[in-house]
Amino acid sequence: VRIARFTAPDQTPRYGVIAGEPGEPDAVITELAGFPLPPFELTAVSHQLSQVRLLAPVVGSKIVAVGKNYADHVREMGGDEPPADPVLFLKPSTSVVGPGDAIVLPALSHEVHHEAELAVVIGGIVRRVPVERALDAVLGYTCANDVTARDLQRSDGQWTRAKGFDTFCPLGPWIETELDPSGLQLQCRVDGQLRQSASTGDLLRSVAELIAYASAVMTLLPGDVLLTGTPAGVGPLVAGNRVDVTIEGIGTLTNSVVADPMAAP
Ligand code: MG
Repeated sequence: VRIARFTAPDQTPRYGVIAGEPGEPDAVITELAGFPLPPFELTAVSHQLSQVRLLAPVVGSKIVAVGKNYADHVREMGGDEPPADPVLFLKPSTSVVGPGDAIVLPALSHEVHHEAELAVVIGGIVRRVPVERALDAVLGYTCANDVTARDLQRSDGQWTRAKGFDTFCPLGPWIETELDPSGLQLQCRVDGQLRQSASTGDLLRSVAELIAYASAVMTLLPGDVLLTGTPAGVGPLVAGNRVDVTIEGIGTLTNSVVADPMAAP
C-alpha cells in the first residue's frame, strides 16, 4: 500500500493510506491511527486526495546515508575502487522537505548537485540485525534526493555542511510498502532532461546489507530513513530548475530549486 503524510485544509499533519491512482478524481486518502509505531490501523476518516497536500512521508529521528554505493558513481567522482566498507554519514532531520517543496540553494555554496536515491523507511526498532533478517525492519520505500554542496564536500574533508543544509533531503511522494527493492529502475530528470538512470540491481551493497551495517553502529527507529547511494550522472542545480526523481513501483518526487532569499544579490 501507499502511505502518505498529508495536511487537509485547517488540519495538522497526519498519515493516511492512498486508494486509487493519484491524479485521478476518485483517489482518496484514509487516515491512519498510530503510525509510524506499529500496530497502526485505518480509521473511518477519508479525504479526496486532490484536496490534501502531501508532505514528506516521514519525520524520523535521522537520515542515515551511504556514499559510493554504485561503481559508476565511484568512477565519476575520481575513484577507481569502491571502498571496502560502505561510507556512512548522517543528514539532519531538518534537511527533509516533501514533494513540491523548494530546494533552497544556500549562499555558502556555488555548486549544488542532485543525487537521486532509493530511500528505505524503517518500520521498527532495529539494533544489530543480521543481513538475513534485515528486510523485516523495512516499512517501505520512497524516492529521495541527497542534495549535496559539492564544493563544500571537497573543501571540508567531511560532509556535514555539504549534506546538511535545510531542504537538502527531499523525500516522497509516499511510502510504498509492497516492493522488492532489488531491481528497480531509478531516474533523475532536471527540467525534463534525463541526468541519471540506473537500476537498484547495481547497488554495490544491497538494502539488507546496508541495514545490517548501519544497525551494527546505531539503533534505527521507526520512521528513520536509509539512503542507499546515487548512480552516475550527478550534476548541478540552478535556481529555476525542476528536479524529478522517479523510481519504478513508487512514483515521482518533484521539487523546484530556488536561490537563498537571504543571500546578497
Ligand atoms: Mg548520496
